[in-house]
Amino acid sequence: MTRQGLLIVISGPSGAGKGTVCQGLLQRNKELCLSVSCTTRPPRPGEQHGVNYFFVDKTTFEQMIANNQLLEYAKVYDNYYGTPQKYVEEKLAAGRDVILEIDIQGALQVKQKYPQGVLIFLVPPSLSLLKERLTNRGTDSAESIASRLKCVCDELSNTGRYDYLVINDTVENAIDQVEAIIKAEKCRPSRFDFDMKKFLEC
Ligand code: 5GP
Repeated sequence: MTRQGLLIVISGPSGAGKGTVCQGLLQRNKELCLSVSCTTRPPRPGEQHGVNYFFVDKTTFEQMIANNQLLEYAKVYDNYYGTPQKYVEEKLAAGRDVILEIDIQGALQVKQKYPQGVLIFLVPPSLSLLKERLTNRGTDSAESIASRLKCVCDELSNTGRYDYLVINDTVENAIDQVEAIIKAEKCRPSRFDFDMKKFLEC
């Protein structure tokens, strides 16, 4: 029996802990791959090109759109963000599971192209905790935090379009839940290329 890799999309409000949960998943499971997105946003202190993002200018990004090099893309907080298609396709074809940490607009585009993709929405336990996390992170200006918090209600209204909702009360719990989702999703019969004739011959 063979199977394609699983495409897992993780979205959620800024500060919900997507990055921490994804890093935890990667540490626990070395077979998982994390897609590195392209963005026109400038790097934050400590961020590295090719690790956190591929930092590109607007012209380069628009060329990638024109050349159909992106699986999905969106404008978030005035900057472009997008997923390079080739990396995802190659890993999935090789049977590797791939995680995308992207926003809602992108997640819905992915679901259209890959209906078999699994959309997971990660939420913090409360809005006040989210504000606290964004402030403590120390990477965003007060103005940027205010604009991110403003978007939260809009973002939360889209949770019904996702396959799963995970509440990030503690990072360990959230990672456990995402792992459980991945395990269950991999057992769906539709994901197996099951050859009955070969099976009966063995
Ligand atoms: P940040 O600037 O905080 O790194 O990311 C801002 C938002 O952009 C987050 O919600 C993040 O998930 C989203 N994002 C990051 N990469 C991509 C991408 O490739 N595509 C889309 N659609 N959103 C992305």
